[in-house]
Amino acid sequence: MADKGNGAVSGQKDLADWKLSPDWADWHWQLAHRITRPEEAARLLGLPEGALAGAAQAAETYPMAVTPYYLSLIDAKDANCPIRRMAIPDPAELNVTTDDIEDPSQEDSYSPLPAIIHRYPDRLLITGSLECATYCRHCFRKRKVGGKRENVSLADIRAGIAYIRENEAIRDVLISGGDPLMLNDDIIEDIVRELREIPHVELIRIGTRTPVTMPQRISDELLDRLKKYHPVWVNTHFNHPREFSPESERALARLADAGFPLGNQSVLLKGINDNVDTMRELIQLLVKNRVRPYYLYHCDYLPGLRHFRTPLSRGIELLEQLIGFTTGFAIPTYVIDAPGGGGKIPLAPDYFVKNAKDEIILKNFEGTHYPVHVTE
Ligand code: SF4
Repeated sequence: MADKGNGAVSGQKDLADWKLSPDWADWHWQLAHRITRPEEAARLLGLPEGALAGAAQAAETYPMAVTPYYLSLIDAKDANCPIRRMAIPDPAELNVTTDDIEDPSQEDSYSPLPAIIHRYPDRLLITGSLECATYCRHCFRKRKVGGKRENVSLADIRAGIAYIRENEAIRDVLISGGDPLMLNDDIIEDIVRELREIPHVELIRIGTRTPVTMPQRISDELLDRLKKYHPVWVNTHFNHPREFSPESERALARLADAGFPLGNQSVLLKGINDNVDTMRELIQLLVKNRVRPYYLYHCDYLPGLRHFRTPLSRGIELLEQLIGFTTGFAIPTYVIDAPGGGGKIPLAPDYFVKNAKDEIILKNFEGTHYPVHVTE
């Protein structure tokens, strides 16, 4: 794209022109036109000079890529726009504290092969790709995804499928990454078909943020190829109501209509979704779009994520403000991926008040106390 060289207005016009082009709906075009430099994002958004100071330095350590679609969701007038904070590098990513751990879940120690993370007895993760349509600034696999970091090879994926074939205890396989929908249709179909041919694999899940950052990827052709191998679940990653658009809602509807049960994993992010109104709107939008909110992750203790992290108590308080006040199955399980490789530990509000004779006292969502018999 030619640089028209006159700052804000020309950049915003480029983005508006792009949106009107038929190419906008083509995921290959979206990928090919990803914005990889903060100054390019600033120009397209019409931000004043210096608005993204320090972003380039952060992008040298943790690469930047944003699809034109996801960039177009940014409110250029709002310096704290949640989409901007999740997509544009921030110098705070270079801050490291003594609590930070590069691989807090110790995934590497549960990785018998380059493409496999095998933490739980009956299920595992196979990496399809370590690339993503947009590199999230809050990514918990920052050490592995994007830029010049080594991607998994097709040979690694084949070795991973062979490992699954040999391990009869594996009944549930999550294809993740990075984002496995960065692979072309032929390769992702091959992976899903080969997994489906393994008799002990009951469940196949695909973890992808493309419905959020590049919904054009959810094409009819892709769905026609994958729906032959049901049950295939799709887990996605919406964090904020502003990530819903006509395009993302269409992608979710297509997936649901094609028979893919949909789940969502959010990350609790300070200043983005750590207030009850935002979280309620997010989970209600998800269920309205036939997506079950599944996990709400406590933000990991990773270098450069401190500015996104809330106290652990914040997630519990949020659940307390949601349980009973909205649809039960809209409420995600709040989990912490225990530092040290302990796996996911659920955290929930405590409704127990005290023990009484043959009874316990519980409180309900409104705080009213009720005695409950503890014997039959
Ligand atoms: S899509 Fe997932 S793996 Fe990729 S950068 Fe975002 S959080 Fe990380």
